[in-house]
Amino acid sequence: MKPNLRQLFFEHVGQTSDFPMGLEVERAEGVWLLGPNGKKWIDLISGVSVSNVGHNNPAVVEAVCSQARDYLHLMVYGEVIQSPQVRYAARIAELLPPRLQSVYFVNSGSEAVEGALKLAKRYTGRTELVSFKNAYHGSTHGSLSVMGGEEYRNSYRPLLPDVQQLRFNRPEDLEQITARTACVIVEPVQGEGGIQLPAPGFLEALRRRCDETGALLIFDEIQTGTGRTGTLYYFQQAGVTPDILCTAKSFGGGMPLGAFISSDGIMSTLKTNPVLGHITTFGGHPVCCAAGLAALEYLLGEGLMQQADAKGARYEQAMRAHPAVKEVRRAGLLMAVEFGDAALCERVVQRAVETGLLTEWFLFWPTALRIAPPLTITDDEIDASCRILLDAIDHAVARAG
Ligand code: PLP
Repeated sequence: MKPNLRQLFFEHVGQTSDFPMGLEVERAEGVWLLGPNGKKWIDLISGVSVSNVGHNNPAVVEAVCSQARDYLHLMVYGEVIQSPQVRYAARIAELLPPRLQSVYFVNSGSEAVEGALKLAKRYTGRTELVSFKNAYHGSTHGSLSVMGGEEYRNSYRPLLPDVQQLRFNRPEDLEQITARTACVIVEPVQGEGGIQLPAPGFLEALRRRCDETGALLIFDEIQTGTGRTGTLYYFQQAGVTPDILCTAKSFGGGMPLGAFISSDGIMSTLKTNPVLGHITTFGGHPVCCAAGLAALEYLLGEGLMQQADAKGARYEQAMRAHPAVKEVRRAGLLMAVEFGDAALCERVVQRAVETGLLTEWFLFWPTALRIAPPLTITDDEIDASCRILLDAIDHAVARAG
């Protein structure tokens, strides 16, 4: 039985039934969540991996207000072009390789995955989809069909029929990608699967197999994107470029925004037979695009991507020093602290929350703790959060003994 985080907060943080969903936060700033009666927590989740440039970032707030004064929403479908979309798409395209120049804005990560799957089916004329066990891709019917958690899918069947799930990091499984496969969707670093990094050569082998069979390769970088792993997207350090990139979460700087991105050639198949291959009224909302662009410029201007690895290493060193920590898996400032024991992990989370730090385990991996604070976190804040975590681990181990 996996621990239930919501229940945990409800029981251990002293919330009443007026707040059954967890901690009550009145304000947030930088890495801090501020509750009533002077309660505060360091946010090691960033909600999840959304607030890469910190909560209440003044540049983002200003962009939101300024765009709201110009207009909230006009029209989509080509009759009107909303300038904030054009500006953000152009800036993103400057930072991505020639294969990824066409940006289709949507509202969320799940919708980005939906759009990418639909685009791959339309472009290839094939129906079979391939994904990986323990992958998380979202909660709509299409994204649920390719996600890896059986228990999350079971009550919604029938889902998409033509889905094969392979084992992550097992090159021998890639033979199951064939000339019938429309696309392979993969998180290059599995997030909710407990921060599983790709084994050397795995993404290259996947790229080769897709090229051999004509299947499109989709990278879901919804959790790993926008600087969290030390490059704008993880594929840029892996050296393997997908045909379609899915992005969301921190892409909107804290506002709801996602995109699927491909070459013009692939994307153009959405334009015909019939036109408007993916329709979304609010996708790429001008206020969200303005916020996303401001967050991106802040990230680049402050050199936050370049700092992600050193900050992650600081956490890693502190965590590895504790004997209860079996392993640390990490890409930049996205990290799993492995205890190999779900009950111990639950007690660590519990104690951390009680003593001023918000963390959690992973949806499909309850034995490890998540460390993914805003990339703006300072060394002093890292050290303060390590002290809380190490105390929480001591406390959890003592209760076990
Ligand atoms: N893909 C990955 C890798 C995610 O981590 C998530 C959300 O956690 C999603 C897709 C779904 O995004 P959203 O919750 O915005 O629909």
